Amino acid sequence: MFCSNCGKEIDDKAVVCIHCGVKTPNLDLSTDKDIPSHIAGVASCFFPIVGLILYFLWKDEKPKSAKVVLIWMIPVALLIIFYIIILLITFAVGIVSAF
Ligand SMILES: [Zn+2]
Repeated sequence: MFCSNCGKEIDDKAVVCIHCGVKTPNLDLSTDKDIPSHIAGVASCFFPIVGLILYFLWKDEKPKSAKVVLIWMIPVALLIIFYIIILLITFAVGIVSAF
């Protein structure tokens, strides 16, 4: 490949240009901070609000991490919905049996 700064030919795997020292796209790949964290996922499992905040913080900057958090939150969201349905049914049965 060719250096984006000086235009000289450099090794395809080079992380910096040997001629001018400017970093190449390879350096960006090797220092990719978007490593999906399952710890954040587990945390959002216990605290769905945290997961939601993390998702909105990360969705542009760290799409992979945001996706992991979101995946972890799906069962939690389903559990909350299920719990609400059970609560509503219990409430409805309570009203019916009162008459
Ligand atoms: Zn260069």
